[in-house]
Amino acid sequence: MNSTTQPPVRVRFAPSPTGPLHMGGVRTAYYNWLFARKHGGTFILRVEDTDATRFVEGAEQYVVEALNWCGLVPDEGIGATETGPHAPYRQSERTAIYKAAVDELLAKGWAYRAWDSPEALAEVRKAAESKGETFQYDAKSRGGMQNDLALTEAEVQTLLEAQIPHVVRFKTPETPREITFTDAIRGQVTIQSSVIDDKVLLKPDGLPTYHLANVVDDHHMEISHVIRGEEWLPSAPLHLLLYEAFGWTPPVFAHLPLILKPEGNGKLSKRDGIKGGFPVFPLEWTDPTSGDALTGYRESGYSPEAFLNMLLLLGWNPGDEQELFTAAEAAERFDLDRVVKSGARFNPDKARWFNEQHLRQTPHEKLKDELCNHLESSGRVDCWGKEGLLLDMMLERVSFLKEIAETDWLFAPPVAFDEKLVRKKWKDETAGYIETVRERFEALEPFDSSTIEANFKAYLETEGLGFGAVLLPLRIVLTGIGGGPSMFEFAEFLGKAATLARIDAGLEAIASMRANA
Ligand code: GLU
Repeated sequence: MNSTTQPPVRVRFAPSPTGPLHMGGVRTAYYNWLFARKHGGTFILRVEDTDATRFVEGAEQYVVEALNWCGLVPDEGIGATETGPHAPYRQSERTAIYKAAVDELLAKGWAYRAWDSPEALAEVRKAAESKGETFQYDAKSRGGMQNDLALTEAEVQTLLEAQIPHVVRFKTPETPREITFTDAIRGQVTIQSSVIDDKVLLKPDGLPTYHLANVVDDHHMEISHVIRGEEWLPSAPLHLLLYEAFGWTPPVFAHLPLILKPEGNGKLSKRDGIKGGFPVFPLEWTDPTSGDALTGYRESGYSPEAFLNMLLLLGWNPGDEQELFTAAEAAERFDLDRVVKSGARFNPDKARWFNEQHLRQTPHEKLKDELCNHLESSGRVDCWGKEGLLLDMMLERVSFLKEIAETDWLFAPPVAFDEKLVRKKWKDETAGYIETVRERFEALEPFDSSTIEANFKAYLETEGLGFGAVLLPLRIVLTGIGGGPSMFEFAEFLGKAATLARIDAGLEAIASMRANA
């Protein structure tokens, strides 16, 4: 290997199973996946489950299912076909690795044991607060606390013999200095080491904290680029110090911008989704304790392709006007230097727009089966075989495929007729026109949209009637409303008998409506 050879690209998505994966988490996974695909690298799924107090049943399976739905299947780790060379990929199964790492830091003098009880810590915090200060466990304060650095050997021995629980803390540098690194998205980031506290690395139960496990795993799993949410930016300097302490080369860091509320103020949350009636999770999630259900993009009718396209542009821009991307196209174009630095505002209307666009780009053949499923679950079994016609008529008019199955007047005669429209558009002579149309339809063979259309136009022409005078009333009797697909296609879809029956029922309903007005 010569000195300019870059290490292979290995990226990881490292969620903690503390609840359902937020759409921001899916975006992080997607950008990692894109980066791996673009550079011929490996996309790894690691589960960071060392915080037993925040563990939520089912959250890990949710992550795997969500990634599968999106087609972001890991090459290595949890959910991959073959787990991979660095197994296990669940941190709770790697405790011996972290214990060894901590022992190394203790031996090198980059860590120390501390016996301060939660009560004692609460006390010093309170005392500081009463002086208007904030207590930080660090190079300045650790001399006054219960730890290896402050206590005598004999005192330490006594604590150990009494089996008083202890933690292991990181020993931040005594002499303050600047920590500088280049974030692939944000450029140079510099912070003073003195703002970093002596973080707990190992908890009294022997389990590591996030910081230790994350750095140790990224190193052992040979991660080349850490692409993660902005909320981890403040942790990066500590992580760099940990790399230094171990004598390891750090990966490249890239911190993705926050996804903001539609109003633009603050991070998009579960509450925003409930309030605004849009999903913020990829899949439906039922809270295991409260039983509350939160809707997902999948259940709301989004295709995974549209969902990913929306996430792609929520933080990245291609540098030109293109908005519609397949995952494969995105993987060719993606790079970290076009990820934006500032927060990306979520727009639920735009999310719907992406679904519409993807829907309209999909060949009808590919949508038939899915439409059949929706028809079946809405109890519309009568129209099997007519999915092609339904798609021709309706696809341009809906944002979600399931809306077609949910449109009642497509499948059953209208029960109500738009009164305002009737009052405005229905004249005394209208019923006569529709009766003539009915007669002509009755004699028509074959009953397909082009024959129907030709016949209808011929009638208008011979009678010198305008489209508006007859077509809108026909629409009203057939559907009850004023807008929708081509009435010629719709009549073909209904078939002759149903079309004639709807005209009869519609004429009758409108006549009595007008008589009572
Ligand atoms: N477990 C962290 C999370 O839940 C991972 C952060 C990182 O990627 O370093 O987001």
